[in-house]
Amino acid sequence: MNATAHDNFAHDLTRLSAPTRTALDRAPAHFIDGKWLPAQATLPVIDPSSGAPIAAIGAGGAEEIDQAVRAARQAFKSPAWAQMGPMSRERLLHRLATLIEDNAATLAELETIDNGMPLWAAQGPVVGGAAQVFHYYAGWPSKLAGRTQSVEGPVPGFTGIVRQEPVGVVGAIIPWNMPLLMAAWKLAPALAAGCTVVLKPAEDTSLTALYLADLIAEAGFPAGTVNVVTGRGAEAGEALVAHPDVAKISFTGSTAIGRRIGASAGRSLKKHSLELGGKSPTLIFDDADLDAAAEGAANGIFFNSGQICVAGSRLYVQDRVHDAVVERLSRHLPTIAVGAGLNPGTFMGPLVNAAQKARVGGYLEGAAAAGFGVMRGCPVPDDSGYFVSPAIVTGADVDAAVTREEIFGPVLCIYRFSDEDEAIALSNATDYGLASAIWSRDIGRVMRVSAALECGKVMVNNSGFPYAGLPEGGVKASGHGRDLGPEGIAQYLKTKCILIAP
Ligand code: ADP
Repeated sequence: MNATAHDNFAHDLTRLSAPTRTALDRAPAHFIDGKWLPAQATLPVIDPSSGAPIAAIGAGGAEEIDQAVRAARQAFKSPAWAQMGPMSRERLLHRLATLIEDNAATLAELETIDNGMPLWAAQGPVVGGAAQVFHYYAGWPSKLAGRTQSVEGPVPGFTGIVRQEPVGVVGAIIPWNMPLLMAAWKLAPALAAGCTVVLKPAEDTSLTALYLADLIAEAGFPAGTVNVVTGRGAEAGEALVAHPDVAKISFTGSTAIGRRIGASAGRSLKKHSLELGGKSPTLIFDDADLDAAAEGAANGIFFNSGQICVAGSRLYVQDRVHDAVVERLSRHLPTIAVGAGLNPGTFMGPLVNAAQKARVGGYLEGAAAAGFGVMRGCPVPDDSGYFVSPAIVTGADVDAAVTREEIFGPVLCIYRFSDEDEAIALSNATDYGLASAIWSRDIGRVMRVSAALECGKVMVNNSGFPYAGLPEGGVKASGHGRDLGPEGIAQYLKTKCILIAP
């Protein structure tokens, strides 16, 4: 690797903006009851492009979680929040969305150096996306309504009222792949519903959640409505799930941890929703626009270095166009610009941490050892940062680890199919069921295949993006419950029926 190429993989942190620098230099603390509580123990914040520590965050545990839940419980019952009218709640949410937009440059820079993603991804999909989600849910409080109906009872004139009430204190546990966006997916509907929240960001990427806490205070949310406790999953996360005063757990993360959380929440009969892993198929039929389909398949897996739960990691191509699609993708692979997230021109940043890098490397070594075809994109340095070269695997068996297991990295496995039935059977032959993509110009086929796919979302002739008004979530080992859209806010509401005698 020559010096110029290597430069592309290094950040010049001296060029960070002053507000980003200030955010990095702040003393580690948790945001509880509207105040910053200095952390007793800390965790380093690592820049994934270099592997170097750049800041520290609090390593919270049961004690901090208990304080935060108590603050959230008090806020939930306080007149300042419980009796706030819906229009006032809307105003706060819009104000927060606008503050995110006003602070977009700093939030995006923080996200990039914390997670590794390219700056354009942090600016648009993550920070822009988060503001959109707050704007969308800001519209909900004044439209929430129950219903009234007449009831046939022992005497005429009974009335039934069905009220929608906030569930209470929400424990939100989010992953590191799109940090601020995931915080918005949980906070915005919970607050719109009238809940209060304890947010536990991922230990690898807590910086934007901490920055958001200040914006929440600045927007005017009463103390305790949102609390942010940082720390490890096994400590802060488990304590939040186990806390008796938490009414609902909203989790996005791995299937393994989702199972643990589901089991724990089941024991305490807490409401919970789980948005988990995926092994999403992309189907390219022989009537598709092949240029668009190949580009879409590449974006579906290489965006955010494949660290997206809906990433299209399995590509099934119909026999007649199989070689043409593989040829397009193999030409595209070396053109994917890998580099540090802050460097202009980077399409794919490093993975988030050393464990992810080792994990992806392990799957590729396993694929090569099994005799599958493995193509790699541009070379990346091995001596610093968590970079991996994007990869394509061909000829993998149906029961190979690369076919069955979620890699969560930039690895596209390509297979072939002969007809619609086989495409559906192969797509559904997975434990997961998050998303699927179909590339075809035959509307009848699109409708048939969309109906037959076992998943929560189908993208037709596109590689997808989340939209605040449409539900996201999965079936099977991809979890249950939905984020976003009307379905997203319903998860933070409970129903009460009132029967009134005449
Ligand atoms: P990944 O494997 O992608 O890192 P995880 O499911 O481990 O995803 O992490 C997602 C979130 O869940 C993070 O905020 C993490 O701290 C949290 N977490 C991890 N383990 C637990 C646990 N046992 N209980 C609660 N939360 C956890």
